[in-house]
Amino acid sequence: MKVLVVNCGSSSLKYQLIDMVTEEALAVGLVERIGIQGSVLIQKANNEKYKIEEEMPNHKIAIELVLKALVDSEHGVIKDLSEISASGHRIVSGGEKYADSVLINEDVMRVIEDCVKLAPLHNPAHILGINACEELMPGTPMVAVFDTAFHQTMPEEAYMYALPYEFYEEHKIRRYGAHGTSHKFVAKEAATFLGKDMSELKIITCHLGNGASISAVKNGKCIDTSMGFTPLAGLVMGTRCGDIDPAIVTFMITELGMTASEANETLNKKSGVLGISGVGSDFRDLEAAANEGNKRAILALDMFHYRVKKYIGSYAAAMGGVDCILFTGGIGENGPETRESICADLAYLGAEFNTDTNKGLRGKLADISTENSKVKILVVPTNEELMIARDTKEIVSAL
Ligand code: AMP
Repeated sequence: MKVLVVNCGSSSLKYQLIDMVTEEALAVGLVERIGIQGSVLIQKANNEKYKIEEEMPNHKIAIELVLKALVDSEHGVIKDLSEISASGHRIVSGGEKYADSVLINEDVMRVIEDCVKLAPLHNPAHILGINACEELMPGTPMVAVFDTAFHQTMPEEAYMYALPYEFYEEHKIRRYGAHGTSHKFVAKEAATFLGKDMSELKIITCHLGNGASISAVKNGKCIDTSMGFTPLAGLVMGTRCGDIDPAIVTFMITELGMTASEANETLNKKSGVLGISGVGSDFRDLEAAANEGNKRAILALDMFHYRVKKYIGSYAAAMGGVDCILFTGGIGENGPETRESICADLAYLGAEFNTDTNKGLRGKLADISTENSKVKILVVPTNEELMIARDTKEIVSAL
């Protein structure tokens, strides 16, 4: 079985064609500038790069070119589109409706549309991608995999905000979380690595990338996560502020004269380690600046590490203990210094860090705790596309 994984953004589209026997990606592609002059598709397959530069005024034409690239006689990886058994679509928000992936039908489409207000930048693009696949591959089953689904097991006390109850009842204002597909994937991988079932473990999953979030996964179920109503909450991120006193937002508007949209832009795009350091949001640049003694870069990194450490402690408290703390995402997988700084003082939890194994370790599944550490500390590379493909295969195989 071959599954096409589609991740549609407003002007970009990422895709992978995955062979579900070997779980290998046969082709990995990116389309950029959809609807903007200079559209381009780059596909990596057969150890080569294939580039198509053609105007792509909409998602349908972009997906048409994706399918063309996949069956291309010279650069493609399949002979005919009938070899694609199903497509799996990454959907940012499924609101409260879905706690798992589902086969796409009219009812599911209505829910994705209803959730546009919760993910105004993403869900509309996902709808365009699904409609295009439906038109271009009629009859090929499609599965929706929601970023919010894994977090739907959170108990009320974790997902409710202490606001007037009508805010929840009338406007569905609550914590939804994000990165759920990644948290689910890495928690499962960690359990397999440890030779245990997820149901036996208390795991803290730290997804540290440009967007960063952390989850408490108790006995296979997410019981809390750091992102909230939107992905702005929680950890200090590349450009997002994470947790702040909400009164600062009112202050920005009433005292600093910002419009609501300026305040929103500042909190999402000009804050985080970028805002603190003034250097940038990429951790490689920050670490280089910090090594040269740049005080604000050092502060930004210290704040980032401190916030993660605080969440680890609070999630251990929420779960009544922890068996495994894991790192994933661009920084979690590739940043030994970040991991070392976060784990430096976790011995009180029974988590003893192994600086030797950690040193230089990048992008590989590994145990970075000492042999006697009661709590295992792992690096687990994430693979959201594979998680989407696995869910898609499971649902389609049962049809
Ligand atoms: P993501 O959003 O998960 O793709 O993560 C992107 C972030 O990973 C980048 O902004 C970098 O800060 C970080 N990153 C990638 N490679 C490295 C590396 N070798 N060392 C430190 N940070 C890295």
